Amino acid sequence: MFIIKLLLFVFLVVIIFFVGTLARIFFGMSSGSRQKTNRRPNGRSSSRRRFGHEAEAERMLACAVCGVHVPESEGVKAAGKFFCCEAHSK
Ligand SMILES: [Zn+2]
Repeated sequence: MFIIKLLLFVFLVVIIFFVGTLARIFFGMSSGSRQKTNRRPNGRSSSRRRFGHEAEAERMLACAVCGVHVPESEGVKAAGKFFCCEAHSK
């Protein structure tokens, strides 16, 4: 009976160790993929989440004329520069 208990104990220790290793591998993989999506230098996701999805998902660029910061998709790119609107790109 003692040997069975000992075997059960060893079995449990092995399982706990195995699960711990798996969890560490999983954590390492998930943090690695998070780093890949977070490669924008100004993308502070935790502090920007409060301001809504757009602010987090889009890069804000400054207009070359007036300096206003506009989401990249809403502005106009011309001659290698970024502008807040069509009028400023001309
Ligand atoms: Zn402008």
